[in-house]
Amino acid sequence: MARMDRRDFLGFGAVAGAAMLAPRWMSAQAPGATDRLGQMRAAGATTAIKTTRLYDNLYLLQGAGGNMAVQTGPDGTLVIDSSFSTAVPHIREAIAALTQEPASTLINTHWHVDHTDGNEAMHEAGFMIYAHRKTRDRLAAPSTVKLLGISLPAAPTGALPVVTFDDRMQVWHNGDSLDLVHFEPAHTDTDIYIQFHNADVLHAGDTFFNRMYPFIDEGTGGSIGGMIQATAKALSLAGPQTKIIPGHGPLGDRAELQQFHDMLSSVRDKVAALKRAGANEQEAIARKPTSDLDAQWGKGMMNGDAFTGLVYRTL
Ligand SMILES: [Zn+2]
Ligand SMILES: [Zn+2]
Repeated sequence: MARMDRRDFLGFGAVAGAAMLAPRWMSAQAPGATDRLGQMRAAGATTAIKTTRLYDNLYLLQGAGGNMAVQTGPDGTLVIDSSFSTAVPHIREAIAALTQEPASTLINTHWHVDHTDGNEAMHEAGFMIYAHRKTRDRLAAPSTVKLLGISLPAAPTGALPVVTFDDRMQVWHNGDSLDLVHFEPAHTDTDIYIQFHNADVLHAGDTFFNRMYPFIDEGTGGSIGGMIQATAKALSLAGPQTKIIPGHGPLGDRAELQQFHDMLSSVRDKVAALKRAGANEQEAIARKPTSDLDAQWGKGMMNGDAFTGLVYRTL
């Protein structure tokens, strides 16, 4: 795998990442939340989609927003996640380059806007949307992600998942069997993984940020402990050859997921020790508990200080 391509997460990272480095700037005089979302959507409109073949009929699509997957075949096209609304024309072009079969199914890994904003346009293009029940609940109501400074109105009806589940669901599609399984709250309380058994591909959604500190949505049930549990669960599903799609970052494998899990555990242990010793959040951040990890993990969406704060607050 080539080195991390910053363009891969320009739509989310460059905007949200910059904002995360300056939380005071955000709360005091940030441009309106719609502006920030507008910037992300602008990136969605201009970012080209990169297609990578993972198996005979299964592809990774990377552009603005979260990483997507496309499965092709006679049952129709199955897609995982829908990026930003503005990216949908690019997504449909990328799909058209792979298959002429009709639209079938869109699966959302979780409720976040960089994975669901394209839902309505994909639904209009013929996709039936599957997700965890809470993804539908959260999309159906106004929402905010405070740390990213994003506020959203309730999504239109056409954007809502119409097939939902609580724990797990199985789908047989285009010659493969797929498990859709809810994680205990990790990155949010709506996270699922999608496992393609024949293709040996696992889409882990935003429970896996490959080669960078993850964002954890403390406002909708996310926590560092949940992230560690989710990565342990995903590790138990993956073999040495399994291709693992992270929500953000380059395509990963079991070894990289293990490194991510170990990094999370290491940061959790260090920050927990500071908290137990009586440090408040600012003091914990000032002690730089991630200093030995920042060169490897702190160049994506979150730097070490921002991630330390997230870990501290969700311990
Ligand atoms: Zn995401
Ligand atoms: Zn997310």
